[in-house]
Amino acid sequence: MVIKLKTHRHKKFLGQHFLQDKNISRKIAESLLLTEKDFVVEIGPGKGILTRELLKHIPHLTAIEFDGDLIDPLKSEFGNSLTLINDDFLNVDLNILAKKNKIKLVGNIPYNITSQIIFKAIDSNSVVSELLIMIQKEVAERIVAKPNSKAYGILSVLIQYFGDVKILFNVSPGCFYPKPKVTSSVIKIDFKKRNYLLSCDELLFRKIVRGTFNMRRKTLRNTLRSLKFSEDKLSSLDLDLNRRAESLSIKEFLDLTNQLSNK
Ligand code: SAH
Repeated sequence: MVIKLKTHRHKKFLGQHFLQDKNISRKIAESLLLTEKDFVVEIGPGKGILTRELLKHIPHLTAIEFDGDLIDPLKSEFGNSLTLINDDFLNVDLNILAKKNKIKLVGNIPYNITSQIIFKAIDSNSVVSELLIMIQKEVAERIVAKPNSKAYGILSVLIQYFGDVKILFNVSPGCFYPKPKVTSSVIKIDFKKRNYLLSCDELLFRKIVRGTFNMRRKTLRNTLRSLKFSEDKLSSLDLDLNRRAESLSIKEFLDLTNQLSNK
């Protein structure tokens, strides 16, 4: 059955920008390199343009859609091939969803919750193998940024620490209806290919990365002092404290965490 596009009024608060370009949805589905046994969870299937392409590669998938008005049309088009969860993705426990296989998460999703979705995937990385999402180009550039650049920050360090990140391709506003204001990029975060497998207190690592970048113009001496590390600890560090967070590589953030850890 074909979904009647005209009967659904788009909801701005749900970040609804529906993809209109089948070539893009085909490219997204192909980028997941799916095999029949893969367990795919789609976030925000909307009217199903990506769902349709994904189901050309696998017999079944699970989708989480917040908008109750879209559930019936999705059910009638995809039937048993689709398990639908009508909920906010941010409320769904991925540990319960994952069964034998790890989850490949995919979605053309609302821009306003991009970071929350990425961090949820990171927090669930024991059950999520990869995340493929459409996000604002500008945010994608921040995620892949290298030290000593303006774009380098909390997102770059935390996400590059937890997985291997690639920008796959860009998508222009004209490919959506309604048109978003900005250009988008499709990125892939592969949690299986971790570049940094150092032992490290992850909570402390996050605290240091967030704390030092929140005051990115200040020296590490000042930012670490505000994070309440003792003068003794600071003077024992093997690191030039006149540097700023944006000059530290991920490896250096990890070394710093290990030096500051009490263990
Ligand atoms: N993937 C579709 C729809 C994109 S619009 C396409 O490419 O055309 C974004 C979709 O995400 C909408 O269907 C919207 O209802 C849904 N959505 C928004 N917030 C959500 C949330 N928190 N959890 C799950 N779905 C959400």
